[in-house]
Amino acid sequence: MTYTDEEICTQFGEDPHKHNGAVTPPIYQTSLFAFRSFKEFTEAQKLERENYVYSRGVNPTVNILERKLAALEKGEQCKCFSSGMGAISAMFFTLLKSGDHVVLINNIYGATTQLIKYLSKFNISYSFVDHQLTNIHEAIQDNTKLIYVESPGTMLMKVVDLQAIAQLAKSKGIITAIDNTWSTPIFQKPLTLGFNLSIHSLTKYIGGHSDVVGGAVIGDQALVDDIFQYGYQLNGAVLGAHDAYLINRGLRTLPIRLKQHQENALKVIDYLRTKHEIVKIHHPSLEKSQFPFLEKQMKGFSGLLSFELKDANFASVSKFIDALSIFKIGVSWGGFESLVTSPVKDNNEQQLIEEGISPGLIRLSIGLEGAELQINDLEKAYRQL
Ligand SMILES: *Cc1c(COP(=O)(O)O)cnc(C)c1O
Repeated sequence: MTYTDEEICTQFGEDPHKHNGAVTPPIYQTSLFAFRSFKEFTEAQKLERENYVYSRGVNPTVNILERKLAALEKGEQCKCFSSGMGAISAMFFTLLKSGDHVVLINNIYGATTQLIKYLSKFNISYSFVDHQLTNIHEAIQDNTKLIYVESPGTMLMKVVDLQAIAQLAKSKGIITAIDNTWSTPIFQKPLTLGFNLSIHSLTKYIGGHSDVVGGAVIGDQALVDDIFQYGYQLNGAVLGAHDAYLINRGLRTLPIRLKQHQENALKVIDYLRTKHEIVKIHHPSLEKSQFPFLEKQMKGFSGLLSFELKDANFASVSKFIDALSIFKIGVSWGGFESLVTSPVKDNNEQQLIEEGISPGLIRLSIGLEGAELQINDLEKAYRQL
């Protein structure tokens, strides 16, 4: 049986008749589940992955979300966490041991970068590489256990050929994982391209309303079961039932929201391209001709983009950002609201240049206020330059 993404988001795995006809399932706000007999209890405990015993295992409200995310990614199993970092750290904790090496590809999220560096205290080593396949080949060692990818990245939005990486890894017996937060499974399904694990910060588009923090790991049953048993249950980054309810509520409108984020972003990009003080725009929609693999890899493009102001520094970046009002200043992205941020600080110009990041880089998360409002706001800021 195959389901469309829209069908999965709206109703997959939900049976109102189990809950007095309620079209939104109840929030199972309970820490434990009671049993009719001691025998039944001991049987359930034998397999906590499948049975409702304790909410640091499985909970019915969380489970609805997990089944939907697994179906969307076309994966066998999903486990949800209390944050994206909860999911990523549980995966590293479970899959890696002393002596292992990890290859991290393409502009990795800041906290993930800090985490893998911190794990060197357990004798886990790492190599960071860019998106060039030849560099990835060179970075692989005999003890490489995991290849971890972001595509698109979330600062310069660069893309990598996921199928090529998955094939290379498979030929060497290396596990592959991707942080798929930028695309969501609506626009990219890495497991269908050969990846073993797909990871999300549910805080971004999937939650979508900037009112909840969550994470997920989806993939092969054996791997996700291991992550459940060790990194999840023992480290305990549990997604609460109420938060799972909120994320499931966000998920119902994910396809239609993403369509609108994309439409607004493409209009904003068309506007930015007319401005000669803006020297570069970073968004994968602009790379389609350069990277033919994108056609197969991505079905659409979300609303996170960045651009570079010409000859900029902290002062001019601040001036531009402070003149915006529809775009709010803040971290995170993927919600209903437009956001602006920049890696530029008053003391890091040299460091940015060394990292290949322009000292005029500004990142926008294009929200749902409408392209006209967004463009007017940007034009107001642009005139300040
Ligand atoms: C936000 C984010 C994370 C971390 O997720 P949290 O839910 O904040 O823990 C991981 N990866 C990417 C790409 C992110 O944007």
